[in-house]
Amino acid sequence: MNLKRLSIAIFAFGLCFLGCGPEPLGGELTLKVVAPNDDFASYELRQVQVSNVENIYQLQHANFKFLGGGLLEGDDMQNLLTSEVTPQSFATQTRSHFDQTLEPHLAIRDEVVHAQDFHSLMALSAFAGFEKIWGWYVNDIGDRSTATTEPGYVVFYGDIVPSNLLPVPMIQMDNAVYLAGVDVWMVFPVGNQEGVPYAMNQGVLAHEFHHRIFFQNVWTTSAFDRWKSILSATESLSASEQRNLNLLRALDEGLADINAIGYTKNIGFMEPSFHSEHLDVVSAELLGAESLRRNIESDFVDRATYDNLGDDSLEHALVDGCGVAQNFTTSGDILSGQAWSPYCLGSVVARTIWEGVGRDHQLLREVMLPAINQTLFHLGEVLGTDQDFDFDVFFQLLLESLPNTFDTADLCSEIATRFSSLATADRIPLCAF
Ligand SMILES: [Zn+2]
Repeated sequence: MNLKRLSIAIFAFGLCFLGCGPEPLGGELTLKVVAPNDDFASYELRQVQVSNVENIYQLQHANFKFLGGGLLEGDDMQNLLTSEVTPQSFATQTRSHFDQTLEPHLAIRDEVVHAQDFHSLMALSAFAGFEKIWGWYVNDIGDRSTATTEPGYVVFYGDIVPSNLLPVPMIQMDNAVYLAGVDVWMVFPVGNQEGVPYAMNQGVLAHEFHHRIFFQNVWTTSAFDRWKSILSATESLSASEQRNLNLLRALDEGLADINAIGYTKNIGFMEPSFHSEHLDVVSAELLGAESLRRNIESDFVDRATYDNLGDDSLEHALVDGCGVAQNFTTSGDILSGQAWSPYCLGSVVARTIWEGVGRDHQLLREVMLPAINQTLFHLGEVLGTDQDFDFDVFFQLLLESLPNTFDTADLCSEIATRFSSLATADRIPLCAF
């Protein structure tokens, strides 16, 4: 080898030493992933097509990118909440705590991208899921907010430590979440979960995706200062602001679920992830309670209402796991306290909407969910005025957004049943109760 060739070889080696992955591979690709069957009731390993990939070796898509692990500390978030911070600068600065690239173990065989280990399969399956779900929210639901016009980020196996006062990672296993403000979805490893991991369950991903839509539409426009003040509160929130926040979290969860139901056309979209044959008794019971709360046609949701959850008058055997507010004995109102589960009231919201379309998937997808999407921006405008929130505000905005051709009789009668104290107070004028 002459000297020139040798120097090229050394130069090439030097470059590779700094990081020499395979050439980027993008465009339209076929991936072998865990994907749902048509009814979203079961999942299997199969080939799917994805478009607009920028580089599959780093899970980079034109719309979103996977990030590696890393640790975000709650105190770092608090320190960034200055008056000048914008939704974009806050997200950029908090997101920088995570590793900026993820390189799963992939191999190409017969022009199909295969994962080489379980973790890579989970990441690749979530990648394929996000691509489909992103397209659905833009094309079918009509979202035009920064939730779908700005790039998205998925942190794979990162951690969050809420604060130096509580130095325990928030959620380490068996979960997928959207982290508002930081504006990332987080996918956590499988712990003792049986069935389909949440990150492979596209209904769960559609639910998490909607949290970004809710946050970007509602909180980052007119109401961002209010959101910052809630997050940065050094002392506990006032009882009325705590109640506002609780109800908004319930609305956020309920709308995430009803959108996931719209995407999957299956009210039991979480069931493939709820297997407990080999779980210990405590974990199995927790999973059973979660299933009861989240299935919008369960015995619990059949009978739960805004009022009987608020005043604790629903049979306790059914309410298991919803939580009772710390201040319940003084306020008599579960919905105003700190310790409760937003999913319980969230399922009441989802059920109300489901009955409001006569349990018709087509009406849900084509009329109701696009109208809900339009409502969110206006809800942000209302919250930006520091007005108190209750569900009459949401339902009134929703009724204004529904087309004139939509028959509101079922929706109004369901609101009258499930939110009777608001209905009888004549707070939803577009329903003639
Ligand atoms: Zn959620």
